[in-house]
Amino acid sequence: MALTDDGPHPYWTPRVLDVLAEFEVPATFNMTGVQVPGNARLVQRIVAAGHQIADHTLNHPLNLPALPAPRIRQEIAEAHDRIAQAASAAPRFFRAPGGAWSRQVVDNASSLGMICVGWGVDPRDWDRPGVPHITACCCADFPRLAHVWADQGYRGQAFIEWVREDLDVQIEVVAPGRR
Ligand SMILES: [Zn+2]
Repeated sequence: MALTDDGPHPYWTPRVLDVLAEFEVPATFNMTGVQVPGNARLVQRIVAAGHQIADHTLNHPLNLPALPAPRIRQEIAEAHDRIAQAASAAPRFFRAPGGAWSRQVVDNASSLGMICVGWGVDPRDWDRPGVPHITACCCADFPRLAHVWADQGYRGQAFIEWVREDLDVQIEVVAPGRR
């Protein structure tokens, strides 16, 4: 499971980092190129904390596949280069804004050595639906994901056992009203 953050944002990202450090949770920080140069020290803090970094285009265009080919290339490559310079390490992952993929988008990211990643759960936290909604949304998907991982051979992860042994009770405790 990977938690993702769109940024780096000078106000929110440090707070996200503080919480992740407190609970020793690694995450993936998706970076938009325009936000990188002014937040280079923040990028370095993310890397120093051991988190993964990902290219999330230069300007976060939600219509990336519809842009002219040179613009697609620029959105992906310039963000890649800005992140690599600030982080002193190239991003290994690329995520398309809004999940808008095309063959061209994938090819551009792949040619820069990046692995394309999407997501399985979107609690729409960016729309500020409130903590109970976010918790319920994520917890509702835990059982499905746990079984997928178990089928893939993952074993010994505490929360997979947790979900399998006492699913109904636990979900009710964590997310009342969302079964
Ligand atoms: Zn995004």
